[in-house]
Amino acid sequence: MKIGFIGLGIMGKPMALNLITAGHELTVFDIIEENMNTLKEAGAVVATSPKEVAAQNPLILTMLPNSPHVKAVVLGENGILEGAAPKTTIVDMSSIAPLASQEIAKTCAEKGVKFLDAPVSGGEPKAIDGTLSFMVGGDENTFHEVKDILSAMGASVVLCGDIGAGNTTKLANQVIVALNIAAVSEAFMLSTKAGVDPAKVFDAIQGGLAGSTVMNAKIPMITAGNFAPGFKIDLHIKDLANALDTGHEVGSPLPLTASVMEILQNLKADGNGQCDHSAIALYYEKLTGSNIRTS
Ligand code: NAD
Repeated sequence: MKIGFIGLGIMGKPMALNLITAGHELTVFDIIEENMNTLKEAGAVVATSPKEVAAQNPLILTMLPNSPHVKAVVLGENGILEGAAPKTTIVDMSSIAPLASQEIAKTCAEKGVKFLDAPVSGGEPKAIDGTLSFMVGGDENTFHEVKDILSAMGASVVLCGDIGAGNTTKLANQVIVALNIAAVSEAFMLSTKAGVDPAKVFDAIQGGLAGSTVMNAKIPMITAGNFAPGFKIDLHIKDLANALDTGHEVGSPLPLTASVMEILQNLKADGNGQCDHSAIALYYEKLTGSNIRTS
């Protein structure tokens, strides 16, 4: 199938490559020209604007940083809606505010264009393997039209509800991940300061109730002092800001999320915004003057 793909960063690039491997014909666009090189070499057509992508493709996928970027690409000048024919489908796989998804979907519907929000979890390794988890919001018929295409990039594709439900589910995911990394960092600093080797603590507790996918992925990074992204602190700040806004709107207080947000803000102020979110451990290292390292 002919597919347009906009946003070829850490996640978008491997996801787009998996669609080419699955036999789809891609037209791609990114504001950073060199981000399109790998796709061009793999056979994708390179466009000069979202409008041009839309004029050539009945299905357009976007993988962009946040709500303003998706609004600009879909609704802005030279955006998708300027080039899209009626019945075009847009699937936005970015993690953005649920309210923004609803606003964008409404404007699309006025032009006869279908829109789904379909953020993912799994990070770069699962984007490369094609085993991401998709959480989708929107119309059921449109979901079934694109489910097989999303399955070329993911191991799980779940319709969570109406438009915005995908991003609401993703906010829950991001709250759980951020708080889990903070809990793991706090606990491993405690045991390290008290004189126990973090490798032994990890070995002893990973199979019990405290074990988690987050701990398995992040403790090896933390104990090696390797904070290369992965998922950047700056992007997690964006997600927690969207979670706090949404929580306040719907009347669901998020006291723990607010605390971890301040830890992330502290790390950003120290110049660590581009580090992996496992760098939450650095905050505890600053507090104690000790490192969490295996001996
Ligand atoms: P990234 O910053 O690496 O990539 C974003 C890409 O969008 C960049 O290539 C950028 O040039 C492009 N872009 C920005 N504005 C644009 C515009 N107006 N037109 C065209 N292209 C534009 O980010 P990423 O890590 O790939 O994340 C993308 C989304 O996926 C984010 O919403 C993020 O929260 C989410 N996400 C990331 C991960 C992860 O581990 N990195 C995991 C799950 C979800």
